[in-house]
Amino acid sequence: MLVVVLSGPGGAGKGTIARALVEGDSELSLSRSWTTRDRRSDDAEDAYLFVTRSEFDERLDAGGFLEWNQFLGRAYGTPVPDADDARDLLLEIDVAGGRQVLDRLPGALCLFVDAPDDAELRRRLVGRGDGSDRADQRVAEASRERQEADDLGYRRVVNDVLDVAIAEIRDLIDTARAGS
Ligand code: 5GP
Repeated sequence: MLVVVLSGPGGAGKGTIARALVEGDSELSLSRSWTTRDRRSDDAEDAYLFVTRSEFDERLDAGGFLEWNQFLGRAYGTPVPDADDARDLLLEIDVAGGRQVLDRLPGALCLFVDAPDDAELRRRLVGRGDGSDRADQRVAEASRERQEADDLGYRRVVNDVLDVAIAEIRDLIDTARAGS
């Protein structure tokens, strides 16, 4: 089973790309993370499994997460994949989670979905409703994560034209499948 990790800043388009990839590929399934954060009104019905901290900790103690991390005081984790499912697995997680996946599965394909440049990233964040300060913070955080991804050997995929980015990722997945 190939594990594909999609990371990247908010505003780069990884959610849209992840949905398009699984819709167009019956051999790829999207992992559903567990989180202790509250559901937001813009979350898809199946965006996460929303759990209490004690439910999360119980699964964590039982070794039930492939990786996990805290973000703004909330826990997020990828359940250990079902060994009976032959499909490849797509994870939409942060770079700290990608690091844990690479520790356990060195053959994972890790991709950093990025905006063409900081000005465009900022423009997209503001377009999604971030205020000016918040957008600046996220652009700075993106640059830190980009460096970390680089150090880990992530491939960077620039999402300028959406269909081009999706096609590029499909090619990278095909190549990784051929080699695995
Ligand atoms: P949000 O609360 O906006 O949905 O997600 C916050 C951050 O947590 C995003 O960077 C997202 O990619 C990351 N995230 C979501 N699920 C997981 C997970 O299972 N593991 C890790 N490490 N990060 C996750």
